[in-house]
Amino acid sequence: MKQVAGVRITAFCAVLTVLLIGSYKNALADEEPRGNDDPTEFNNECVITPGSGKETILIGNVVRTTDGARHMELLLSDGLISGMSIDTVLRDSNPDATVIDCGDAFISPGLVNPHEHLAHSGGIPDPKTEPIYEHRDEWRGVFGDKYALAFEHVEGVARDIWVELRHLLSGTTTLGASGGVAGLVKNATTVTTSDGYLIDFEIFPYGWESKFHEMDCPAEIEDPTPRFSESEELLDQPYVAHVAEGTNCAATLEGQAFLDFVEANPGRRYALLHGVGLDQESIDRLAGLDVSLVWSPRSNVSLYDETAKVLDVMESGALVALGTDWSYSGSYNMLEEIRCADRVDNIRWGDQLSGEDYWEMSTSTAAYSLGLEDEIGQVNLAMAADLVIVQNRTGDFFEDLMDSEVSNVIATIIDGSIRSGNSEFFDTNQLPDQCQNFIDDHFLCVDWSRYEEAELTMEKVIEENRSFEKAVPLFEPRFQAPCLED
Ligand SMILES: [Zn+2]
Repeated sequence: MKQVAGVRITAFCAVLTVLLIGSYKNALADEEPRGNDDPTEFNNECVITPGSGKETILIGNVVRTTDGARHMELLLSDGLISGMSIDTVLRDSNPDATVIDCGDAFISPGLVNPHEHLAHSGGIPDPKTEPIYEHRDEWRGVFGDKYALAFEHVEGVARDIWVELRHLLSGTTTLGASGGVAGLVKNATTVTTSDGYLIDFEIFPYGWESKFHEMDCPAEIEDPTPRFSESEELLDQPYVAHVAEGTNCAATLEGQAFLDFVEANPGRRYALLHGVGLDQESIDRLAGLDVSLVWSPRSNVSLYDETAKVLDVMESGALVALGTDWSYSGSYNMLEEIRCADRVDNIRWGDQLSGEDYWEMSTSTAAYSLGLEDEIGQVNLAMAADLVIVQNRTGDFFEDLMDSEVSNVIATIIDGSIRSGNSEFFDTNQLPDQCQNFIDDHFLCVDWSRYEEAELTMEKVIEENRSFEKAVPLFEPRFQAPCLED
């Protein structure tokens, strides 16, 4: 099923001449992705030719729309995508630029994960996690007598870095979460950081204690008005909150009350996390109120054995984004979340969704859900140069994306610079000095002086996290919550 177009077209800025854009559009018509059907023939090696200028020219099979990839060059300057061409015009006009030629590899907008709890996403799930719950307040232990799940707060900068690192290495460039560490992924969060975006995350808009005296209809809710931030700075920012996280009447009532509130308080972007309990009446209100759904299928099925009615939401014209939630019941990274979404779609819905849908849910619509659609989530002129380079194995980007693991992510680029990557695809001697931080086959480009107080090094970060036996592994989904698996 195709996503209903809801992403605003970003205005082209005047970085390129009209002439260049014209010739680029004409030439796109008959250009095909490079490479052929024999996987051994795909060249995924990234060759870096350093230049004396500040610009970078990145070359590969660029994925800009669901029509597929086109072999082209991108000019990256001042953190933005400032030129696009299918021939060598950018290289010819920027002879001082550093050139990164990744051959047949795919270049996509970086993945945008609009839902993660960084401060509670460092550990593997409680082995007693079962899909027995009907409402979030039950596993949180604030309502009823079902088993309350065990989870831990992430303690210390080295462990915070580990949480962001697993998202960065798997191709995520922006994380929507409360909190964050500067200098790794970009954080869309309630606190302004030097390299992030301001978002109003009110995690539980009905408060931390259960608002319900009973979970079956007619449920009573103490105060049906969601709690909104009182911070002046956040009042105009997109509002992203957990709503209708459960399958029972209480969850359905939360959805209705939240949409009533949105209707009475227009003028800002809203996104609704989970939405498992939304009834058809609420689903039909989403598009008109411009409320996006952020879908976390693994977290939903591992706790509630059910997930949001995504096909109905898409049918209604509302936008759906994917998000990981947290490590205790959700996916370890966006690639795992895409795989879980596809599994739910195949097992429960008869294969209605495609790789193209999951890609949009992880890039452009995810950006929209955070109100950031003019800045991130697409390869377009004047948008942030936040990109993920993915190994080309089949020639079909969307097939490869659904089958990708951390090892298939060649590099993650943020604001025009390589932030992390897989050493197997590079001559690491060509990488800048700040990328000489290695962990297994991968490298991280980081300025450790940002974290001077903790006197961190790559070795210290690795040592501290690998000595924590419950730490989520970086490169494999070991102990990840099941997604409709036994
Ligand atoms: Zn959550």
